[in-house]
Amino acid sequence: MKVIGLIGGMSCESTAHYYARLNGRVREALGGLHSAEILMWSVDFAPIAQMQAEGRWEEAGVRLAAIARRLEGAGAEVIVLATNTMHKVADAIETAIGIPFLHIADATAEKIRTSGKRKPAIMATRFTMEQDFYTGRLREKFGLDAITPDEADRALVHQIIYDELCVGRVTDASRAVFVDVARRLKAKGADCLVLGCTEVGMLLNGGNSPLPMFDTTLIHADAAVNFALGHVPTAQAAE
Ligand code: GLU
Repeated sequence: MKVIGLIGGMSCESTAHYYARLNGRVREALGGLHSAEILMWSVDFAPIAQMQAEGRWEEAGVRLAAIARRLEGAGAEVIVLATNTMHKVADAIETAIGIPFLHIADATAEKIRTSGKRKPAIMATRFTMEQDFYTGRLREKFGLDAITPDEADRALVHQIIYDELCVGRVTDASRAVFVDVARRLKAKGADCLVLGCTEVGMLLNGGNSPLPMFDTTLIHADAAVNFALGHVPTAQAAE
């Protein structure tokens, strides 16, 4: 089994879900007391979030690339960056390391394509919904016609992610807001929903989503386990 280098803490709430999923999937695959080999570097999110808010992406890229290098030096055989938003600086990380980097959007797009869906709606941070590094990649590399909520809904989703989910606050009121946003995305013509922020699964799930759902946290963690175990990815959707 290969060693997974996990860069987490963005936020720590979703990293806990990664940790559980990675270990759960390895146990399912190998049975008994098996669990994943993980080297995790969990950052203090506050300074990173500040860099995001101030547009200091290059600095954030330098910081995360240095962490990736140190994980590689410690024995990691693949790097998994446990946040969609910070994939804005994926290139800086990839060029700094000599081991594979598992891109969260690629793992998700492959699942969507295999399912036959072509028009995913993205619920994520403003950075992920509004900048080209994510939806552009889905479009150009995978031919997916990604759509996003309108301005008011983007603001709401972004605010709930940072003010509530990233600090571990889960409320019925915000769950209802997320379900309503997803309904409006369905009405706009989306054929599926990408939980494009690793915390969105804290509110939306297979039971309340009005659209077939692709949870980037679960899909990304599963891709890491497939890599670690040398398995070819399956078409089975991550629930
Ligand atoms: N975890 C979130 C994401 O997947 C948001 C927090 C962050 O900006 O890293 O985008």
